Amino acid sequence: MTKKLSWKELKVGDILEGGSSLEFKTGNWRSKRPVHIPEKCIHCLFCWISCPDNAIIVDSEKGKFVKFNYDYCKGCGICAYECPKKAIEMKQEGEQ
Ligand code: SF4
Ligand code: SF4
Repeated sequence: MTKKLSWKELKVGDILEGGSSLEFKTGNWRSKRPVHIPEKCIHCLFCWISCPDNAIIVDSEKGKFVKFNYDYCKGCGICAYECPKKAIEMKQEGEQ
């Protein structure tokens, strides 16, 4: 990470770069991880639209669930709660 400058060190009229959550991999915050059960999945993508961390990867051409992005998934369990087919199970991290 780059050192943050104080306001006194900034040049007059300086432009600050916007932050990006892509730099902060939050997957290590997780105590539980979502596990997909493909045989139950109907690819409704309710999980994808509900995930607050955009941690579900879909095939946008086929409109299908692909996988979880565990680099950013915090294990909140919203996807499992919203799934109408119980195709996502929350497992204790390190259990499988
Ligand atoms: S919400 Fe459940 S059934 Fe729908 S795409 Fe996600 S895992 Fe599959
Ligand atoms: S557990 Fe939470 S952060 Fe992880 S994929 Fe599901 S909704 Fe997204």
